[in-house]
This record gives sequence, structure tokens and C-alpha cells, in this order.
Amino acid sequence: MKIESKLAQIGNRQDPRTGAVSAPIYHSTTYAHPALGQSTGFDYTRTLNPTRKILEDAIAELEGGVRGFAFSSGMAAVHAVFSLFCPGDHVIVSSDLYGGTYRVLEHIFRPLGIEATYVHTGHLDEVEAALRETTRALFIETPTNPTMQITDIAAVSLFARRRGLLTIVDNTFMTPYFQRPIELGADIVVHSATKFLGGHNDVLAGLVVAKSDEIAERLYFVQNSIGAVLGPQDAWLLMRGMKTLAIRMERSAMNASAIAAWLDARDDVVKVYYPGLDTHPGKAVCAKQASGFGSMVSFEVLDARMVPFVLEHLHLVTFAESLGGVETLITYPTRQTHADIPEDIREKVGVTDRLLRLSVGIEHIGDLIDDLSQALDYAAEQVLSRRR
Ligand SMILES: *Cc1c(COP(=O)(O)O)cnc(C)c1O
Repeated sequence: MKIESKLAQIGNRQDPRTGAVSAPIYHSTTYAHPALGQSTGFDYTRTLNPTRKILEDAIAELEGGVRGFAFSSGMAAVHAVFSLFCPGDHVIVSSDLYGGTYRVLEHIFRPLGIEATYVHTGHLDEVEAALRETTRALFIETPTNPTMQITDIAAVSLFARRRGLLTIVDNTFMTPYFQRPIELGADIVVHSATKFLGGHNDVLAGLVVAKSDEIAERLYFVQNSIGAVLGPQDAWLLMRGMKTLAIRMERSAMNASAIAAWLDARDDVVKVYYPGLDTHPGKAVCAKQASGFGSMVSFEVLDARMVPFVLEHLHLVTFAESLGGVETLITYPTRQTHADIPEDIREKVGVTDRLLRLSVGIEHIGDLIDDLSQALDYAAEQVLSRRR
């Protein structure tokens, strides 16, 4: 079955007793045992919940792994993955990284003795230079957040496998609809399902998929021991969103591609980061490993003083954190998502005070461009007149 069909069918025919087409929500925290030493397979909801299991099986199948795990947030999922490591272990991580992942690595795991080095994981020489005796894994985002750097997942996975390291990919931006890292050699995929998988800015969730039974066993132990599992109601809401992932991703990526080209042609926009642009250095690798370029577009305006005017003057596009929903959102990474990353690291990867990031939704492209156009025109006018 193709992925569109798998997505639309999530949860269907999972309850033979009733024939429910929409997955039933099992709120029960505990499950009766038929007899001593017997179980229906369900004992206690942290350990296994029937609704959560339907979601976990679905994401495992979509990503091509052996087992999936649902967590109460993307950060809980990231935390679970790094909980596989021990004091003294070292990981190599994409430098242009989701701010929360940087924060958990630096402020939760580093004090526990698990260290991270940040490099452009698309450059294998940089990865090689960061290797230590104690390196256990590579953790990559591709495209990165927010400057859309691309890492060749197959190349990095091969590099890692030869050295006995795990490859972990945060696939939040692309989703399995566009990119399936496990098929390219990665060992673990992690998602903030709050974003594109949920798709409607109404559910907080994280997902992890393991490529092998051995990794799955360890992840399951962490999930059950720490207990940051996704509740059954939210598991259902997430599946409800995932059913339409294919058509949402197609439409929002089409809109993003048009907006990126339109921004690129403006002279008050000095730089556009979108992997689908011919000028993007990662375009070929992205095209090789993903079936679309996604719907995240970052751009740098000419003058940082334009930023507040742009943000205040948008009517359709909403100035709000997060991404991946049907509504187009704009964020100011330096103050919002990346505020926890020190300024020197931020500037080095291009997260400047002139950078804005769009999560393009599924609205009509004409309305989106009209809105961006009037806000940018207004901002340019204001800043220009102040200069005079
Ligand atoms: C949002 C996000 C996270 C964290 O997920 P939450 O669901 O907000 O906890 C991790 N990685 C990326 C790339 C994200 O965009």
C-alpha cells in the first residue's frame, strides 16, 4: 500500500468487536486479567494502552521501523532517546538545532555526564573531527531549524554504522510522507508530532520509531520507566490529524515553494532559505532523499528594524510560535524558538536578528502572498522614511 492509503486508514479495522472505523479511545488505566498468569496483552496504561498502540503501530509502519513509541511531547520523545546513553557518552549533533533539543542536551544531559558537540552534520569532515573515543551517536535534523541546512542521511548513516554509532534523525519538518530516514539507514527517528503529523495546532505529542528490536527494547524500557507517555485522548486526536497528512503536506509544500520564489525576487529580502530553491546548496541532496522540500521557509529582511513592522502588519499570517499546522504562522527565531541558544552560536549558523521563519499552511496562495506583500511593503516604507 502507498503511504497516502496507509495514512487515511489509520485506526480503521482495529476493533473487530465493534467494527469501529475511527479508533476507539480506551481511557481505562487498568485491564482485568482472565486468570492467574494470563493477560489480554494489556495490564496498565503506562505500559501499554490500546489506543496509543494503534498510533504507535501506525508510525512504525509509516517510518518503516519495527516499533513506535508515543510520548506526551516532542521534547519527552527527544529526552527518551538521549536517555539511552550513559554518563561519559558523547553525541554529535546538528549545529542549527531546535532550541529545546539544545536546552535538554546542555542543561539536563550535560550535567549528567552526557556531552554533545555541535557541527554541520552535512559536512562529514566536521563530523569526523568531532569524533571521540566515547562518541555513541549522531543526532541530525534535515532540513535544520531554521536555516534549512541539509544532511545526507544515507552518507551519515553509513559513516556512523562503520564506527558503531547510532544515527538518530529528528524528522519533524519532513514527516514520513516526504522523508523516511530508516529506509536510508538511520536507526531511530524522532518527531515532534505537535507539528505536521498533528497538523492543526491542537495536540502536543512526540513519537519515536526504532529500526531494530534491540533498540526498540531499550526504548520501551525507557518509555515505561520514565512514563512520559501520550494520553489516549491525545493519541486519538493525533491519528485524526495524521489521516490527512498527505494532502496537507502536498498543499503546504506547494504554497511554500511559491512563497520562497516570490520572496527571493524581492529586494527588501536579502536571503531565502528553502531547500527547493535552485540557489540552496542542499537542494540536490534533499531531492535525492525526500519526495518534497517541505513547507518551512526562512528569510532575512534587509534591515532588522523592519521585523516589528512586518509582524504587526500581517493580517492572515499569524505571529505565533510552532509550525506544521494548516494555518500559516510566522516566528522570529532569535527571540522565540532559539532564545536559549547563545548568541555567538546563533549568529554562526545564521539565526540573525533579521531572520523570520514561515510555517506555510494550506490557505490560498494568492491570499498568503497578498498578506506578506502588504506587510513587507509597509515595513520597508517605515524603515526607509525613518532613515531620511
Ligand atoms: C517542536 C519541535 C520539537 C519539540 O517538540 P514539542 O512537541 O514542542 O515538545 C523538537 N524538534 C523539532 C524539530 C521541533 O520543531
